[in-house]
Amino acid sequence: MTTPAYEDDNIFAKILRGEIPAVKLYEDDDTLAFMDVMPQAPGHLLVIPKSPSRNLLDADPDTLAKTIPVVQKLAKAAKTAFGADGVFIAQFNEPAAGQTVFHLHFHVIPRHDGQDLKPHTGGMEDVKVLQANAEKIRAAL
Ligand code: 5GP
Repeated sequence: MTTPAYEDDNIFAKILRGEIPAVKLYEDDDTLAFMDVMPQAPGHLLVIPKSPSRNLLDADPDTLAKTIPVVQKLAKAAKTAFGADGVFIAQFNEPAAGQTVFHLHFHVIPRHDGQDLKPHTGGMEDVKVLQANAEKIRAAL
C-alpha cells in the first residue's frame, strides 16, 4: 500500500501556520520544536520539519538531514533540563504503527531509571506545567 497524500488540515500544520497555539521551544528556517500536550513524561516534546510530509515514509531525505540534528539538540537539552538518565526518541508511521497526527514528527522524551512512561496520547497536561517545563528546556539549549 502506498503512503496516503499529505493533508494540510492536520494539527501540526495548523501550529506551523499559527492558527492554534503551542508552547514553542526552538525554531529555525526548517524546523520547529514544541511541547507535547499529552506528555508521556515531564519534558516530552516534539520536533517537526516545516516542510510538509506525512511521516518518515514520504519525507525528502534532505528534510530528514535537517531535522535529525535538531532532534539531537533538543534531546540533549531535555536530558539536561530534567536530570534524566536517558532520552527516548519515537516516531510512528501510519495508524497501524500508532501515528495519530499526519505531519512528520519526532517524540523526544526524557527517561529516568525505574520510571514507566504514561500512555501514548493519554491525559492533557496543564498549560502552566508545559510552560514551566519548556522554560527548563530553553534554559538548557
Ligand atoms: P503520534 O502521531 O506520533 O501518535 O503522536 C502525536 C502526538 O501529538 C501525541 O503525543 C499527542 O499528545 C500530540 N498532540 C496531539 N494534539 C496536539 C496539539 O494540539 N498540540 C500539541 N502540542 N501536541 C499534540
